[in-house]
Amino acid sequence: MTTSHTPKKSLGQNFLHDASYIERIVQAIDPRPGDRVVEIGPGQGALTLPLLRRHGALTVIEFDRDLVGPLAEMAAPVGQLEIIHRDVLQVDLAALAAGGKIKLAGNLPYNISSPILFHALDHAAAITDMVFMLQKEVVDRMGAGPGSKVYGRLSVMLQAYCQVQPLFVVPPGAFRPAPKVDSAVVRLVPRDPATIHIADRDRFAHVVRAAFGQRRKTLRNALRDVCSPEQFEAAGVSADDRAEQVDVAGFVRLANA
Ligand code: SAM
Repeated sequence: MTTSHTPKKSLGQNFLHDASYIERIVQAIDPRPGDRVVEIGPGQGALTLPLLRRHGALTVIEFDRDLVGPLAEMAAPVGQLEIIHRDVLQVDLAALAAGGKIKLAGNLPYNISSPILFHALDHAAAITDMVFMLQKEVVDRMGAGPGSKVYGRLSVMLQAYCQVQPLFVVPPGAFRPAPKVDSAVVRLVPRDPATIHIADRDRFAHVVRAAFGQRRKTLRNALRDVCSPEQFEAAGVSADDRAEQVDVAGFVRLANA
């Protein structure tokens, strides 16, 4: 693509230009024959074109009108590119899967990476796997376990529904313009719904949010309006613990109780 496009900070536009990292990400996405691949935020096509060369067909969701025309032009001689010009948060990913499943990928706009992750979780049943690049700090939080300083709501919510596999770090110099922070690539594999055992997703989300909303407090205080002593007892979770000490299974039991 021409370099005349001025990157928009408000849309988290840091474009990848390092060929070796591009190749590693495409290998991590690893589209197989028959896969329906959807890329979020194709930008100037850094991942899009190699994916299209390898896979032949691809759907992309891009919010920046200025990038849509050049993307279509660039892709035309290479393969079949469907461009959805919308805010990804407004796109029904399950509908894109059309009864099947999609493989989701993207170098995400960092300013809305958490909302995109939660949006994808809402459609996890229609997704085989996701390979995303995000700020390294966010990937650290996604994969953290109890006792870690960065274990929090994002860790519990993602790990409850997906396996989280951090893959590799990408330095700022791989992008133009260079972001201020390191990035990292992560794979998320949605768990089989039969193994999740969350009775009510909204209630689970509410308990986790309330517990980490006041993470310095004991659960007895943080969840004062949410869980009774009997419910702590039934869940086998100590009300004297703080949220950061409770594992994902503990939150599931607490929400179910
Ligand atoms: N994939 C390209 C790359 O690796 O060079 C661009 C990645 S850039 C970090 C993020 C991309 O997401 C930009 O192209 C930006 O315009 C797009 N984007 C930002 N907000 C979006 C939204 N709400 N919905 C869809 N795309 C969005």
